[in-house]
Amino acid sequence: MIPSITGQKSDVSDKLRGFLGKERVQKQKDITPYLTLHNQASAQYFFQAESKNDLINAVKASRALGLSLLIMGGGSNLVVFRKDLTGLVVRNQFINKQVLVEDKTHVELSVSSGYPVTRLVLETVVCGWEGFEYHLGLPGTVGGALYMNSKWTKPVSYFGDQLLRAEIINLQGKIRQVDRSYFRFAYDYSFLQKTKELVLEAIFCLKKIDPFVLKKRSEEAAQYRKQTQPMGVATCGCFFKNISEIDRLRLGLATTSAGYLIDKAGLKGKVVGDFMVSPKHANFIINRGQGKSKDLLLLLQEIKSRVKEKYQVDLQEEVIIV
Ligand SMILES: Cc1cc2nc3c(=O)[nH]c(=O)nc-3n(C[C@H](O)[C@H](O)[C@H](O)COP(=O)(O)OP(=O)(O)OC[C@H]3O[C@@H](n4cnc5c(N)ncnc54)[C@H](O)[C@@H]3O)c2cc1C
Repeated sequence: MIPSITGQKSDVSDKLRGFLGKERVQKQKDITPYLTLHNQASAQYFFQAESKNDLINAVKASRALGLSLLIMGGGSNLVVFRKDLTGLVVRNQFINKQVLVEDKTHVELSVSSGYPVTRLVLETVVCGWEGFEYHLGLPGTVGGALYMNSKWTKPVSYFGDQLLRAEIINLQGKIRQVDRSYFRFAYDYSFLQKTKELVLEAIFCLKKIDPFVLKKRSEEAAQYRKQTQPMGVATCGCFFKNISEIDRLRLGLATTSAGYLIDKAGLKGKVVGDFMVSPKHANFIINRGQGKSKDLLLLLQEIKSRVKEKYQVDLQEEVIIV
Protein backbone atom coordinates (compact mmCIF):
# COMPACT_ATOMS: atom_id res chain seq x y z
CA MET A 1 0.00 0.00 0.00
CA ILE A 2 1.20 3.49 -0.81
CA PRO A 3 1.58 5.50 2.40
CA SER A 4 0.21 9.00 2.85
CA ILE A 5 2.98 11.56 2.91
CA THR A 6 1.12 14.31 4.68
CA GLY A 7 1.93 14.99 8.29
CA GLN A 8 4.91 12.65 8.34
CA LYS A 9 8.07 13.75 10.09
CA SER A 10 10.44 11.35 8.35
CA ASP A 11 12.75 12.68 5.68
CA VAL A 12 12.33 12.24 1.94
CA SER A 13 14.39 9.07 1.75
CA ASP A 14 12.24 7.37 4.40
CA LYS A 15 9.13 8.39 2.53
CA LEU A 16 10.62 7.15 -0.73
CA ARG A 17 11.42 3.82 0.93
CA GLY A 18 7.81 3.74 2.10
CA PHE A 19 6.69 3.95 -1.50
CA LEU A 20 9.27 1.71 -3.13
CA GLY A 21 10.44 -0.74 -0.50
CA LYS A 22 12.77 -0.42 2.46
CA GLU A 23 15.87 -2.01 0.99
CA ARG A 24 15.36 -0.88 -2.56
CA VAL A 25 16.17 2.83 -2.56
CA GLN A 26 19.84 3.76 -2.55
CA LYS A 27 21.18 7.20 -1.70
CA GLN A 28 24.05 8.91 -3.52
CA LYS A 29 24.42 5.94 -5.81
CA ASP A 30 27.28 5.93 -8.31
CA ILE A 31 25.55 5.38 -11.68
CA THR A 32 28.72 5.54 -13.81
CA PRO A 33 28.66 1.76 -14.52
CA TYR A 34 25.12 2.07 -15.93
CA LEU A 35 26.11 4.67 -18.54
CA THR A 36 27.82 3.18 -21.58
CA LEU A 37 29.93 6.36 -21.95
CA HIS A 38 31.03 5.82 -18.33
CA ASN A 39 30.84 9.50 -17.56
CA GLN A 40 31.03 9.98 -13.83
CA ALA A 41 27.70 10.66 -12.14
CA SER A 42 25.79 9.82 -9.02
CA ALA A 43 22.07 9.81 -8.27
CA GLN A 44 20.62 11.39 -5.13
CA TYR A 45 18.11 8.50 -5.02
CA PHE A 46 18.39 5.37 -7.13
CA PHE A 47 15.83 2.62 -7.66
CA GLN A 48 15.88 -0.44 -9.87
CA ALA A 49 12.40 -1.16 -11.27
CA GLU A 50 11.73 -4.85 -11.86
CA SER A 51 8.03 -4.80 -12.71
CA LYS A 52 5.35 -2.58 -14.17
CA ASN A 53 4.16 -1.77 -10.67
CA ASP A 54 7.66 -0.68 -9.69
CA LEU A 55 7.67 1.80 -12.58
CA ILE A 56 4.21 3.09 -11.70
CA ASN A 57 5.10 3.46 -8.02
CA ALA A 58 8.31 5.30 -8.91
CA VAL A 59 6.36 7.83 -10.96
CA LYS A 60 3.79 8.28 -8.20
CA ALA A 61 6.47 8.58 -5.51
CA SER A 62 8.47 11.19 -7.41
CA ARG A 63 5.31 13.23 -7.93
CA ALA A 64 4.15 12.94 -4.34
CA LEU A 65 7.57 13.93 -2.99
CA GLY A 66 8.28 16.63 -5.57
CA LEU A 67 11.38 14.83 -6.86
CA SER A 68 12.55 15.08 -10.45
CA LEU A 69 12.50 11.73 -12.22
CA LEU A 70 14.93 10.28 -14.71
CA ILE A 71 14.27 6.88 -16.22
CA MET A 72 17.19 5.09 -17.76
CA GLY A 73 17.14 1.95 -19.84
CA GLY A 74 20.53 0.74 -20.97
CA GLY A 75 22.06 4.19 -20.47
CA SER A 76 23.45 3.90 -24.00
CA ASN A 77 22.24 7.27 -25.26
CA LEU A 78 22.58 9.30 -22.08
CA VAL A 79 25.30 11.83 -21.38
CA VAL A 80 25.22 13.10 -17.83
CA PHE A 81 27.12 16.35 -17.36
CA ARG A 82 25.91 17.03 -13.84
CA LYS A 83 28.07 14.97 -11.52
CA ASP A 84 25.35 14.87 -8.84
CA LEU A 85 21.89 14.22 -10.17
CA THR A 86 19.18 15.39 -7.82
CA GLY A 87 15.88 13.54 -7.55
CA LEU A 88 15.08 9.93 -8.36
CA VAL A 89 16.89 7.93 -11.02
CA VAL A 90 15.08 4.75 -12.04
CA ARG A 91 16.92 2.01 -13.88
CA ASN A 92 14.42 0.00 -15.87
CA GLN A 93 14.90 -3.73 -15.38
CA PHE A 94 11.28 -4.69 -16.08
CA ILE A 95 11.79 -7.68 -18.37
CA ASN A 96 8.79 -9.53 -19.73
CA LYS A 97 7.53 -10.75 -23.10
CA GLN A 98 4.27 -12.38 -24.08
CA VAL A 99 2.52 -13.46 -27.28
CA LEU A 100 -0.95 -11.91 -27.30
CA VAL A 101 -2.31 -13.11 -30.65
CA GLU A 102 -0.87 -15.46 -33.22
CA ASP A 103 -2.09 -16.72 -36.58
CA LYS A 104 -0.43 -18.26 -39.63
CA THR A 105 1.08 -15.01 -40.87
CA HIS A 106 1.53 -12.64 -37.91
CA VAL A 107 2.18 -12.44 -34.23
CA GLU A 108 1.20 -9.73 -31.78
CA LEU A 109 3.87 -9.47 -29.12
CA SER A 110 3.73 -7.53 -25.86
CA VAL A 111 7.19 -6.51 -24.65
CA SER A 112 8.07 -4.71 -21.42
CA SER A 113 9.92 -1.41 -21.67
CA GLY A 114 13.00 -2.71 -19.85
CA TYR A 115 13.48 -5.61 -22.27
CA PRO A 116 17.01 -5.62 -23.73
CA VAL A 117 16.81 -4.94 -27.48
CA THR A 118 19.51 -7.36 -28.55
CA ARG A 119 17.84 -10.19 -26.61
CA LEU A 120 14.54 -9.33 -28.33
CA VAL A 121 16.25 -9.37 -31.72
CA LEU A 122 17.82 -12.78 -31.14
CA GLU A 123 14.58 -14.28 -29.84
CA THR A 124 12.38 -12.94 -32.65
CA VAL A 125 14.88 -13.92 -35.36
CA VAL A 126 14.88 -17.54 -34.17
CA CYS A 127 11.07 -17.56 -34.28
CA GLY A 128 11.00 -16.08 -37.80
CA TRP A 129 9.22 -12.89 -36.66
CA GLU A 130 10.25 -10.00 -38.92
CA GLY A 131 10.90 -6.43 -37.81
CA PHE A 132 13.77 -6.22 -35.32
CA GLU A 133 16.50 -8.15 -37.13
CA TYR A 134 18.54 -5.13 -38.28
CA HIS A 135 18.86 -3.95 -34.67
CA LEU A 136 21.18 -6.75 -33.61
CA GLY A 137 23.87 -5.07 -31.51
CA LEU A 138 21.73 -2.06 -30.60
CA PRO A 139 22.44 -1.59 -26.89
CA GLY A 140 19.67 -0.58 -24.51
CA THR A 141 16.05 -1.33 -23.89
CA VAL A 142 12.74 -1.31 -25.74
CA GLY A 143 11.64 1.84 -23.84
CA GLY A 144 14.80 3.74 -24.77
CA ALA A 145 14.61 2.59 -28.40
CA LEU A 146 11.00 3.79 -28.69
CA TYR A 147 11.76 7.11 -26.99
CA MET A 148 14.62 7.66 -29.45
CA ASN A 149 13.03 5.80 -32.39
CA SER A 150 16.42 4.17 -32.81
CA LYS A 151 17.34 3.25 -36.32
CA TRP A 152 19.45 1.18 -38.64
CA THR A 153 20.27 2.81 -41.95
CA LYS A 154 21.42 -0.03 -44.21
CA PRO A 155 18.57 -0.56 -45.12
CA VAL A 156 16.52 1.99 -43.20
CA SER A 157 14.64 0.37 -40.31
CA TYR A 158 13.26 2.29 -37.34
CA PHE A 159 12.58 0.60 -34.03
CA GLY A 160 9.07 2.08 -33.92
CA ASP A 161 8.13 0.67 -37.34
CA GLN A 162 6.31 -2.43 -36.05
CA LEU A 163 4.67 -0.78 -33.04
CA LEU A 164 0.90 -1.25 -32.79
CA ARG A 165 0.24 0.44 -29.47
CA ALA A 166 1.85 1.05 -26.11
CA GLU A 167 0.92 1.49 -22.51
CA ILE A 168 2.37 4.73 -21.20
CA ILE A 169 2.30 6.70 -17.96
CA ASN A 170 2.55 10.45 -17.60
CA LEU A 171 4.38 12.28 -14.84
CA GLN A 172 1.08 12.74 -12.99
CA GLY A 173 0.74 8.95 -12.79
CA LYS A 174 -2.06 8.60 -15.36
CA ILE A 175 -1.80 5.36 -17.37
CA ARG A 176 -3.26 4.91 -20.83
CA GLN A 177 -2.97 2.98 -24.07
CA VAL A 178 -1.92 4.93 -27.15
CA ASP A 179 -1.51 3.72 -30.70
CA ARG A 180 1.51 4.12 -32.92
CA SER A 181 0.41 7.45 -34.42
CA TYR A 182 0.65 9.05 -30.95
CA PHE A 183 4.44 8.67 -31.07
CA ARG A 184 4.81 10.84 -34.22
CA PHE A 185 7.95 8.87 -35.02
CA ALA A 186 10.56 10.59 -37.14
CA TYR A 187 14.34 10.41 -37.47
CA ASP A 188 15.71 10.14 -33.89
CA TYR A 189 12.35 11.40 -32.62
CA SER A 190 9.23 10.34 -30.78
CA PHE A 191 6.61 12.61 -29.25
CA LEU A 192 7.57 11.26 -25.79
CA GLN A 193 10.63 13.51 -26.01
CA LYS A 194 8.15 16.42 -25.65
CA THR A 195 5.60 14.90 -23.26
CA LYS A 196 8.12 13.12 -20.98
CA GLU A 197 5.71 10.20 -20.67
CA LEU A 198 7.22 6.80 -19.95
CA VAL A 199 6.65 3.59 -21.85
CA LEU A 200 5.53 0.74 -19.61
CA GLU A 201 4.87 -1.89 -22.26
CA ALA A 202 4.76 -2.00 -26.05
CA ILE A 203 2.76 -4.18 -28.41
CA PHE A 204 4.27 -4.98 -31.78
CA CYS A 205 2.84 -6.74 -34.83
CA LEU A 206 5.45 -8.90 -36.54
CA LYS A 207 5.14 -10.79 -39.81
CA LYS A 208 6.19 -14.43 -39.95
CA ILE A 209 8.87 -15.21 -42.51
CA ASP A 210 11.73 -17.67 -42.96
CA PRO A 211 14.01 -17.46 -39.85
CA PHE A 212 17.00 -18.10 -42.12
CA VAL A 213 16.34 -14.82 -43.98
CA LEU A 214 16.14 -12.91 -40.69
CA LYS A 215 19.29 -14.54 -39.36
CA LYS A 216 21.15 -13.48 -42.49
CA ARG A 217 19.91 -9.89 -42.23
CA SER A 218 20.84 -9.65 -38.55
CA GLU A 219 24.29 -11.09 -39.15
CA GLU A 220 24.90 -8.65 -42.02
CA ALA A 221 23.93 -5.72 -39.79
CA ALA A 222 26.15 -6.97 -36.95
CA GLN A 223 29.01 -7.48 -39.38
CA TYR A 224 28.63 -3.93 -40.74
CA ARG A 225 28.69 -2.62 -37.16
CA LYS A 226 31.93 -4.49 -36.48
CA GLN A 227 33.53 -3.12 -39.63
CA THR A 228 32.53 0.52 -39.11
CA GLN A 229 32.20 1.10 -35.35
CA PRO A 230 34.67 0.84 -32.47
CA MET A 231 33.90 -2.21 -30.32
CA GLY A 232 34.44 -2.85 -26.61
CA VAL A 233 34.89 0.82 -25.73
CA ALA A 234 32.99 3.26 -23.50
CA THR A 235 30.79 5.27 -25.85
CA CYS A 236 27.18 6.27 -26.41
CA GLY A 237 27.19 5.55 -30.13
CA CYS A 238 26.66 8.37 -32.62
CA PHE A 239 26.88 11.63 -30.70
CA PHE A 240 25.38 13.94 -33.34
CA LYS A 241 22.38 13.65 -35.64
CA ASN A 242 23.03 13.37 -39.33
CA ILE A 243 22.52 16.60 -41.29
CA SER A 244 19.32 17.35 -43.18
CA GLU A 245 18.78 16.52 -46.83
CA ILE A 246 18.54 20.28 -47.50
CA ASP A 247 22.02 20.81 -46.04
CA ARG A 248 23.36 17.81 -47.94
CA LEU A 249 22.12 19.27 -51.24
CA ARG A 250 23.37 22.75 -50.36
CA LEU A 251 26.82 21.34 -49.65
CA GLY A 252 26.79 19.03 -52.67
CA LEU A 253 27.71 16.03 -50.52
CA ALA A 254 27.00 12.38 -51.26
CA THR A 255 26.03 11.67 -47.63
CA THR A 256 24.15 13.19 -44.69
CA SER A 257 26.51 11.46 -42.24
CA ALA A 258 27.63 13.72 -39.36
CA GLY A 259 30.60 11.38 -38.94
CA TYR A 260 31.72 12.19 -42.49
CA LEU A 261 31.71 15.93 -41.73
CA ILE A 262 33.61 15.45 -38.47
CA ASP A 263 36.14 13.25 -40.24
CA LYS A 264 36.64 15.77 -43.07
CA ALA A 265 37.08 18.52 -40.49
CA GLY A 266 40.20 16.58 -39.46
CA LEU A 267 38.97 15.45 -36.07
CA LYS A 268 39.38 11.68 -36.10
CA GLY A 269 41.54 10.74 -33.14
CA LYS A 270 41.23 14.22 -31.55
CA VAL A 271 41.77 13.94 -27.79
CA VAL A 272 40.78 16.17 -24.84
CA GLY A 273 41.65 14.61 -21.50
CA ASP A 274 40.33 11.05 -21.57
CA PHE A 275 37.74 11.76 -24.26
CA MET A 276 38.58 11.03 -27.87
CA VAL A 277 36.94 11.12 -31.29
CA SER A 278 37.11 7.51 -32.44
CA PRO A 279 39.71 6.99 -35.16
CA LYS A 280 37.35 4.38 -36.66
CA HIS A 281 34.05 6.30 -36.70
CA ALA A 282 34.22 10.08 -36.24
CA ASN A 283 30.70 10.38 -34.78
CA PHE A 284 31.65 8.07 -31.88
CA ILE A 285 33.19 9.74 -28.85
CA ILE A 286 35.09 7.40 -26.58
CA ASN A 287 35.87 7.70 -22.90
CA ARG A 288 39.32 6.15 -22.45
CA GLY A 289 39.15 6.06 -18.66
CA GLN A 290 38.21 8.77 -16.19
CA GLY A 291 36.80 11.31 -18.67
CA LYS A 292 35.72 14.57 -17.03
CA SER A 293 32.66 16.55 -18.12
CA LYS A 294 34.74 19.69 -18.71
CA ASP A 295 36.93 17.79 -21.19
CA LEU A 296 33.92 16.39 -23.00
CA LEU A 297 32.49 19.91 -23.26
CA LEU A 298 35.73 21.21 -24.74
CA LEU A 299 35.85 18.38 -27.26
CA LEU A 300 32.23 18.98 -28.28
CA GLN A 301 32.88 22.71 -28.71
CA GLU A 302 35.88 21.96 -30.89
CA ILE A 303 33.91 19.50 -33.05
CA LYS A 304 31.00 21.90 -33.50
CA SER A 305 33.12 24.92 -34.31
CA ARG A 306 35.40 23.08 -36.77
CA VAL A 307 32.40 21.58 -38.62
CA LYS A 308 30.64 24.96 -38.64
CA GLU A 309 33.76 26.64 -40.01
CA LYS A 310 34.16 24.11 -42.82
CA TYR A 311 30.53 23.40 -43.72
CA GLN A 312 28.40 26.17 -42.14
CA VAL A 313 26.33 23.50 -40.39
CA ASP A 314 25.32 23.48 -36.72
CA LEU A 315 25.59 19.89 -35.54
CA GLN A 316 22.76 18.83 -33.21
CA GLU A 317 23.27 16.27 -30.46
CA GLU A 318 21.54 12.93 -30.97
CA VAL A 319 22.33 11.83 -27.42
CA ILE A 320 20.16 12.94 -24.51
CA ILE A 321 22.07 15.38 -22.33
CA VAL A 322 21.22 15.60 -18.65
C1 LIG B 1 27.82 1.04 -29.28
C2 LIG B 1 26.53 1.76 -29.53
C3 LIG B 1 25.88 1.60 -30.73
C4 LIG B 1 24.68 2.27 -30.97
N1 LIG B 1 24.06 2.09 -32.18
C5 LIG B 1 22.90 2.75 -32.44
C6 LIG B 1 22.23 2.57 -33.68
O1 LIG B 1 22.63 1.77 -34.53
N2 LIG B 1 21.10 3.28 -33.90
C7 LIG B 1 20.61 4.15 -32.98
O2 LIG B 1 19.57 4.78 -33.25
N3 LIG B 1 21.21 4.33 -31.78
C8 LIG B 1 22.34 3.65 -31.49
N4 LIG B 1 22.94 3.81 -30.27
C9 LIG B 1 22.33 4.72 -29.26
C10 LIG B 1 21.44 3.98 -28.22
O3 LIG B 1 21.89 2.66 -28.04
C11 LIG B 1 19.97 3.92 -28.63
O4 LIG B 1 19.44 5.22 -28.76
C12 LIG B 1 19.14 3.11 -27.63
O5 LIG B 1 17.93 2.75 -28.22
C13 LIG B 1 18.88 3.84 -26.32
O6 LIG B 1 18.23 2.92 -25.42
P1 LIG B 1 18.55 2.92 -23.86
O7 LIG B 1 17.62 1.96 -23.23
O8 LIG B 1 19.99 2.69 -23.61
O9 LIG B 1 18.14 4.40 -23.48
P2 LIG B 1 18.84 5.33 -22.38
O10 LIG B 1 20.17 5.78 -22.90
O11 LIG B 1 18.81 4.70 -21.07
O12 LIG B 1 17.84 6.57 -22.41
C14 LIG B 1 17.71 7.39 -23.57
C15 LIG B 1 16.48 8.28 -23.37
O13 LIG B 1 15.32 7.45 -23.37
C16 LIG B 1 14.56 7.71 -22.19
N5 LIG B 1 13.91 6.45 -21.81
C17 LIG B 1 14.50 5.29 -21.46
N6 LIG B 1 13.58 4.37 -21.16
C18 LIG B 1 12.37 4.95 -21.34
C19 LIG B 1 11.02 4.52 -21.18
N7 LIG B 1 10.70 3.29 -20.77
N8 LIG B 1 10.02 5.40 -21.46
C20 LIG B 1 10.31 6.67 -21.88
N9 LIG B 1 11.55 7.12 -22.02
C21 LIG B 1 12.59 6.28 -21.76
C22 LIG B 1 15.58 8.18 -21.18
O14 LIG B 1 14.97 8.92 -20.13
C23 LIG B 1 16.49 9.02 -22.04
O15 LIG B 1 15.96 10.31 -22.22
C24 LIG B 1 24.13 3.14 -30.00
C25 LIG B 1 24.80 3.28 -28.76
C26 LIG B 1 25.98 2.60 -28.53
C27 LIG B 1 26.65 2.73 -27.19
